[in-house]
Amino acid sequence: MQILVVEDDQALAEGLCTALRRQNYAVNSVSSGRDALHVIRAETPDIAILDLGLPDMDGIDVLKQARSQHPALQILVLTARSHIEQKIIGLDSGADDYLAKPFEIPELLARLRVLERRLGTAKATQIIVGEVKLDTSNNSVVLGDNELELSRREFMLLRSLMENVGRVQTRNTLETRLYSWGEEVASNALEVHIHNLRKKLGSDFIKTVRGVGYRVNQQ
Ligand code: CA
Repeated sequence: MQILVVEDDQALAEGLCTALRRQNYAVNSVSSGRDALHVIRAETPDIAILDLGLPDMDGIDVLKQARSQHPALQILVLTARSHIEQKIIGLDSGADDYLAKPFEIPELLARLRVLERRLGTAKATQIIVGEVKLDTSNNSVVLGDNELELSRREFMLLRSLMENVGRVQTRNTLETRLYSWGEEVASNALEVHIHNLRKKLGSDFIKTVRGVGYRVNQQ
């Protein structure tokens, strides 16, 4: 597992690299957006830990360019910006997860393990979370032993949530999925579909992240 640390705070960068190497990750470290994009192109790391406050470029621009250069890259954003809109912009711009500074190293390592699992399941056609098994090859969803009947929109929303297990899907991301069918969607459509999914899956499977969106947790 190759990790690129993008952080201009030298002390924090060194601390991160030391902690990650201790966990047997292969770690490279850069301190500017330009260098980050170069390394992402040249070395295609598996995971990037990206500080949004960089000296030469806006971190959101780095994030967007990194995402388009290397779609499979898992990106964990570090942000001193505690304001919730900034987190949503980061997630909408392609971040896989975010961590607000200051953070504890064990918290960072836990987030990295989620990203690693996601890398491992990205190519699978079956996604299993707890009792729920979703198969993208035949669009089926099984809960325990029972096959569920989902509308195509419900399936699409559930797939998006399960493919991103452990990570918040913003309302904006999920609504874009609904609109991508090119049909009229009522303003409360997302809530209605989530409500219906909860009736079929149990009320606990899809968690509401207040003010941000929804998440399915690893179980
Ligand atoms: Ca910084």
